[in-house]
Amino acid sequence: MQGIRSEFDGRPDDGATMVVADGVSWLRMPLPFRLNHINLWLLRNDRDCVIVDTGMGMKTCHDTWDAVLAGELKDATVSGVVVTHMHPDHAGCAGWLVDRLATDFWMTRQEYLMCRVLVTDTNADVPEPALRFYRAAGFSAEQLETYKAHFGMFGKFVPDMPRSYRRLRDREQPDFDGGAWEVVIGRGHSPEHACLFDAERNVVIAGDQILPTISPNVSVWPTEPQANPLGDFFDSISTLEARLPEDVLVLPAHGTPFRGAHARLEALRKEHTDKLNALLENGGSPRRAVDTFTDLFGRPIDDRNRVMATGEALAHLHYLVENGDMVADVDDDHVTWFRRR
Ligand SMILES: [Zn+2]
Repeated sequence: MQGIRSEFDGRPDDGATMVVADGVSWLRMPLPFRLNHINLWLLRNDRDCVIVDTGMGMKTCHDTWDAVLAGELKDATVSGVVVTHMHPDHAGCAGWLVDRLATDFWMTRQEYLMCRVLVTDTNADVPEPALRFYRAAGFSAEQLETYKAHFGMFGKFVPDMPRSYRRLRDREQPDFDGGAWEVVIGRGHSPEHACLFDAERNVVIAGDQILPTISPNVSVWPTEPQANPLGDFFDSISTLEARLPEDVLVLPAHGTPFRGAHARLEALRKEHTDKLNALLENGGSPRRAVDTFTDLFGRPIDDRNRVMATGEALAHLHYLVENGDMVADVDDDHVTWFRRR
């Protein structure tokens, strides 16, 4: 990627740590998926440690934590657990860890509340609005059945959440780790994603808001079917450009630490803008969300990634509709067709 520079040659082994800045360690948490890891951060301060992000609520991650708590953190007091946003690879072990460590739990309010709501989604009950949403996007009857069969993954991987929390607010410096970190809120990937920026060390814990190689998923979900998350994501790119220095060390949740935040943010902006342009160019005749996958992804979409791809497609289409560049028509079968205005 042009303009971005990896900070380190290597990375920690799965389950191991590596110091990346004064008082900041990188813990690589293995995940048994195609996305095979998440980066978690340990903020060390004399004997105290604050944990940032937690891994999925599953045995692999619990086992890794058991080893880290009995090893690296054997003599440390964990004085807080911070979760950047609600996604299962970040929030999944939060309930388990906070319960076990009897420590403070920090999150933004929208992420906390949304997460508490979504953990109640289980396989037993697939809501009718969700089926309507994917039918409107163009899913076939068979694809809807596949969706139903996989529903409930959120609650599976975030089995419980701490029952109370301390609120992270934009621009504040919460009092964990000596108040060193300022909260910078990003949106679009999730409702109120907390990045943590320390101007003195010139480091930002970016969660999923800025990733070095993959583009954070920006999707419309059935819980808010008319949302325009790409508008939020573009706004956040501008916010991050304004508030982070170009040479800040970015600690992303996936991939490796890098410098070149502004170059990366510009590349993310361009990637989405290119997709919007492709949709407009090919938008002369009406298409459903599922008909735009070739424009957007240039690769086949299968059962595994159809839901994500549909969410991303709708994020781009809704952005264009909201800006007045496209119109959405609903046919007699309640399917939505998008065309250039
Ligand atoms: Zn995420």
